[in-house]
Amino acid sequence: MNPRYYRPEVLETIARNVISKYDGSLLTVPAPIPVETIMEMVYGLKIEFQFIRNNGRVLGETVFEDATVPIYEREGGEGYKLMRVRAGTVIIDASLINNRLDGRFRYTCAHELAHFVLHKEIYTESGETAAMTNVVRSSEADNTIEWQADRLGSYFLMPKGLVKMAFYRNHGNRNIIDSLADVFGVSHKAMEIRLNEMRLID
Ligand SMILES: [Zn+2]
Repeated sequence: MNPRYYRPEVLETIARNVISKYDGSLLTVPAPIPVETIMEMVYGLKIEFQFIRNNGRVLGETVFEDATVPIYEREGGEGYKLMRVRAGTVIIDASLINNRLDGRFRYTCAHELAHFVLHKEIYTESGETAAMTNVVRSSEADNTIEWQADRLGSYFLMPKGLVKMAFYRNHGNRNIIDSLADVFGVSHKAMEIRLNEMRLID
């Protein structure tokens, strides 16, 4: 099944709608969006920490239907073992467990939430999970799916209206990227990409 095409403006609207389902007032003050809470409270997703692969390449995995997934066991007999996982589980790599305020953890959560919002139909009954990887995917459809999840994920964490607000409040600030990255609880890189995309910096 091929992914639907979403214009960026449509993804911006989806991001706002999802945040509003939890608390519309979040869209009035620039601050870190509580993505973990939104996943749990609005979508009933359950976050679970496991070592997903032994190379740390897969940071998140969304399980759409009850499934048996491989996870990497570090203690005892090292190696992969199979684990039964319920539908609606988001597995986050255990390397991120101690950095819940860290941009990388929040970005991984937002990316997986985006898969859940946009791609549930594609993955349901395909027997696949949606994994966030930093390896290049082979098929065109996968690339589109990953692009959409990255885009929507970044809009969850950095909604357009709030970014504009924060940007103009910080006008003249020489470290504006770092300052705004702190405001939204994202990495410098993620903030830079977002500001670029909105043509606020070049
Ligand atoms: Zn993904």
